[in-house]
Amino acid sequence: MRIGQGVDVHAFAPHTGGPLILGGVAIPHDRSLAGHSDGDAALHALTDALLGAAALGDIGTLVGVDEPATRGVDSRVFLRAALRQVRGQGWCVANVDVTILAQRPRLAPHIPAMRDTIAHDLAVASDRVSVKASTTDRLGFTGRGEGIAVFAVALLAAAHTHDPGGSAAAP
Ligand code: MG
Repeated sequence: MRIGQGVDVHAFAPHTGGPLILGGVAIPHDRSLAGHSDGDAALHALTDALLGAAALGDIGTLVGVDEPATRGVDSRVFLRAALRQVRGQGWCVANVDVTILAQRPRLAPHIPAMRDTIAHDLAVASDRVSVKASTTDRLGFTGRGEGIAVFAVALLAAAHTHDPGGSAAAP
């Protein structure tokens, strides 16, 4: 088993409308996140967690997130690319846990869609994907609504000892 963590922060873009893209889901909001890609801090943190677990570098070394080819790209592309790299090293995803810090909008109604989207891209059952949202009680940059921070962890298991599509329940 291998564990990895990922952290990402994106500012809200000035003078832009929504939607807000988080966890691969378009969330109705009056502001979007700034970023070279679609600004999906949740998928960026999760991508780094997967790569970190396999000691394969980070999202920048994986796909060149600042290159012209990735401008405005759907960050699900990054997540899928990380999964291919991880699988290529003989690992599969045991489970992932993503925590989003945002004062607003309220994310709870969108969490099931985020879990399903991530589970689809990681080719695992949704019960292996946790997405949680919290505020910082109006403290700090997330509390002031300047941006969103995301923390993610990923656990990998050796592919030959693990059924990636099965239940997350311990044997
Ligand atoms: Mg990012």
